[in-house]
Amino acid sequence: MTDLKQSAFPSPAGRVPATLEIDTLVVGAGQAGVAMSEHLGKLGVPHLVLEKSRIAEAWRTVRWDSLVTNGPVWHDRFPGLEFPDLGPDDFAHKDQVADYFEAYAQMIDAPIRTGVEVKQVVRAPGRAGFIVETSEGTLHANRVVAATGPFQRPVIPAIAPQDESLLQIHSANYRNPQQLPEGAVLVVGAGSSGVQIADELNRAGRQVYLSVGAHDRPPRSYRGRDFVWWLGVLGLWDLETVQPGKEHVTIAVSGAHGGRTIDFRELAAQGITLVGLTRAFEAGVARFADDLAENLARGDENYLSLLDAADAYVERNGLDLPEEPEARRRFPEPACVREPLQSLDLAAAGVTSIIWATGYATDFSWLQVDAFDANGKPKHQRGVSSEPGVYFVGLPWLSRRGSTFIWGVWHDARHIADHIATQRKYTAYRDAAQREAATLESSAGKVSLTGVR
Ligand SMILES: Cc1cc2nc3c(=O)[nH]c(=O)nc-3n(C[C@H](O)[C@H](O)[C@H](O)COP(=O)(O)OP(=O)(O)OC[C@H]3O[C@@H](n4cnc5c(N)ncnc54)[C@H](O)[C@@H]3O)c2cc1C
Repeated sequence: MTDLKQSAFPSPAGRVPATLEIDTLVVGAGQAGVAMSEHLGKLGVPHLVLEKSRIAEAWRTVRWDSLVTNGPVWHDRFPGLEFPDLGPDDFAHKDQVADYFEAYAQMIDAPIRTGVEVKQVVRAPGRAGFIVETSEGTLHANRVVAATGPFQRPVIPAIAPQDESLLQIHSANYRNPQQLPEGAVLVVGAGSSGVQIADELNRAGRQVYLSVGAHDRPPRSYRGRDFVWWLGVLGLWDLETVQPGKEHVTIAVSGAHGGRTIDFRELAAQGITLVGLTRAFEAGVARFADDLAENLARGDENYLSLLDAADAYVERNGLDLPEEPEARRRFPEPACVREPLQSLDLAAAGVTSIIWATGYATDFSWLQVDAFDANGKPKHQRGVSSEPGVYFVGLPWLSRRGSTFIWGVWHDARHIADHIATQRKYTAYRDAAQREAATLESSAGKVSLTGVR
């Protein structure tokens, strides 16, 4: 599928006429853009979604080949459609997620135009709204919703060595083990991406070094319920701000192989060498912080605190969920944790690749309006920008912890669409004199039309 509503936008061959006026322009047709379109459509807000690639392109091409969702599909979906061919507790493959959003867009008849990049948005001089430069011409929009994603620009830290003999890629560019040259691999970052990639490489027979920083690692399931359920009933998806001190804490979860708890000591027992935070590279030697045991201990604390909260919830609510004492069993401390490597001579260890699973940044260079703070971060309240007419959706912690996730963005989009619909009521308001003038105008029109007839 390419164009869902060609008629909403001129043909790709032609420039957009300067007269094209859109009430609300949504930029990006990932899950955030599709959710926006659904809610705007329900509220009768005329809108257009412009997508530079294809619907849900990130799920299609900016993920590794074997990726499945981190949450089961009863949870990781929009309310209006179930995943076809999957049971509720299954984890969807990334291509199934992309297909799902394409099908969803079709189901709601979303006015999406693919293959059109929004290059620049500036305030319209002398009138309300914005001038929007696209790869196909210019249009005017009263409002602009930035749904361009939380993970736009892969970030590789400045410590990355300048070493031609190594293949260095970001996790966004990792596809499968065969893509890497023979040899050992250093994976930097042990959030969901790093840990899953390290596990895949280890299973493929590679020697893997995994650099582990601060992390949370919830149990995949406990007492028969997936952790997404526990986070929901315990109100943890709804936390509105990052807990102090947790700003750089990643979450290590995986839906791979039917879904299992990430246990770093188990990964070590399976052959992965764990190392601390990667600090620097000097003359072919990687240097690690002496924080591995501490990072694992903090991860354990997080894990155990969820078990404790779950037990208390079961007790308080008199639930009949089977006890699971074995969830508190700990793997023995592996040698790589007892005597952690402080450094690694990459050549001597046969390391030929480094995978940087070190996260992403946003890029709003196209949105040239006064909606950002001194650090370039969007200024907003639940996605409603401080700059009237500008909205953000899909950003981390937009309204709460769940905001970047499939189910969370749908709820944020509803709030933003509601705000837009309310603003349209203010714009549409006419005072008594204006209403009278409009009545006179329309009756004059009727007279003259009658005359023509
Ligand atoms: C490896 C990985 C695994 C994840 N797994 C899960 C999971 O299991 N469950 C879950 O709920 N969440 C998951 N997420 C988080 C989140 O669901 C995804 O990142 C999701 O893709 C975000 O959707 P989005 O619509 O906000 O952004 P995106 O999917 O990035 O969509 C933004 C769209 O905007 C377009 N765009 C950007 N700039 C422009 C422009 N200037 N003009 C026109 N179009 C533009 C892009 O082409 C893109 O299609 C995962 C994230 C990653 C990185």
